[in-house]
Amino acid sequence: MRSVAVTNIGSLITNDHSLGLGLLGELSDAAILIENGLVAWVGSSGAVPETDESIDVEGRTVLPGFVDSHAHLMFAGDRASEFSARMAGESYAAGGIRTTVAATRAATDQELEDNFMRLAGELRSSGITTFETKSGYGLTTKDEARALRIASKHTSETTYLGAHVVPSEFADRPDDYVALVTGEMLDQVADSAKWIDVFCDRGAFTVEQAREILTAGKERGLQPRIHANQLQQGGGIQLAVEMDCASADHCTHFDAKDIDALAGSNTVATLLPGAEFSTRANYPDARKLWDAGVKVALATDCNPGSSYTSSMPFCIAVAVRDMHFTVEQAIWSATKGGAKALRRDDIGAIKVGMRADLIDLNAPSALHLAYRPGVNLINKTYTSEDFK
Ligand SMILES: [Zn+2]
Repeated sequence: MRSVAVTNIGSLITNDHSLGLGLLGELSDAAILIENGLVAWVGSSGAVPETDESIDVEGRTVLPGFVDSHAHLMFAGDRASEFSARMAGESYAAGGIRTTVAATRAATDQELEDNFMRLAGELRSSGITTFETKSGYGLTTKDEARALRIASKHTSETTYLGAHVVPSEFADRPDDYVALVTGEMLDQVADSAKWIDVFCDRGAFTVEQAREILTAGKERGLQPRIHANQLQQGGGIQLAVEMDCASADHCTHFDAKDIDALAGSNTVATLLPGAEFSTRANYPDARKLWDAGVKVALATDCNPGSSYTSSMPFCIAVAVRDMHFTVEQAIWSATKGGAKALRRDDIGAIKVGMRADLIDLNAPSALHLAYRPGVNLINKTYTSEDFK
C-alpha cells in the first residue's frame, strides 16, 4: 500500500461541515495522509503519522480539486469572430451553435479527440480534477454517438445533449427531431452516456419537448440535468425540480417560485458566470439562492460559442464580483457544489475515505482565488490516481 503525507499546509480547505469551522471547514497548519489514492487521515501538521513519502507544501493552501459539472468539450473549430461581433454590439442567440455543428461534423475522430484532450489539459491546469462533458455538436445519430464514445474514454461524467438545438435540416419539422433524439439516437448513445440534458430555452426546446426528452432518457437509465432559463424566464427550473434533475444549469433568470422549488428539492442550481460574461448578459443574483437555502454550483460551461473559458478561478472571481457570492460560497460552489451537481459523494471535500483530488495553491489562503483575478495561483493539481 502506498502512503503519502502532504505536510506543512498553511490553510487547508476541507469542506467538512462536521468540523464546525465555517462553510469551508478551514484548518490551519494542517496535514493529510493519503493511502492508495484516498484520504486516510486529516489533522495538524505536527501529528501526521509516519510515511515513506511526503510532500511539503511550504505553508501554501490546499483545497479539494475543482469539480466542473458543466462543460462542452466535444467540438471542432472556434467562434472568435462571433464573439468579437457580439462585443461590438450584436446579440447572442442559441442558433450560433449550428456553426459549430457544421465544423464538428466535418472533423475526423482524431481531430475531435485532440481538441478534447487539449481542453481537458487546460481544465486540469486550472485546478479541475473532475469534469463533465456533453455531446450536442453532432446532432446526427452517428455524430452524437461518436462524441460520447470518444468522451467516455476520458471521463465517467458524460452527457447526451442531442437536444442542444434543432439542426437546420429539421428546422421546419422540430417534432421529427425530438422523435429522433428520443428514439434511434438515444438507443445508439445510451451505453456511453451517464446523463441526459436538454437546452430548454427560447430558440431551442420548449418545456413540453424537454419533458418528453428527459423522460425518454430516464427510461433508458440516463440521469437528467437541464440547461434552463439562460436566455429568458421560463419553465425550465420548475421542470428540473419536477423531473428530479441533478442540476438546473444557467439560471440566469429566475423568480420567487423558482427559488421556492429549488430550495425544497434535491436539484442544484449551477451558475455559469463565463456565459454571462461572454454574452454580456445580466448576471443572476446568487445571494437570493443562497439565502433561501438552494444548493449552488459553479461551472465553466467551456464551449466555443458562449463561454470559451476553461478556468475555474476565473469563474470564482466573476461569481464573487458580479453574482454576489461571498468568496467562501464561490469556493464551496466550485468544489462541493459541483460534486452535488453530479450527485457524487466521493469528491469535492477532503475527508477520510474520499478521493485525494487536491489543489496546491500558491497563496496564503483560498480567498486569493477571487482577490487576485486573472493570476495563475495553481502550483500543482493532484488526482487520486497520482497517489496510487
Ligand atoms: Zn451548456
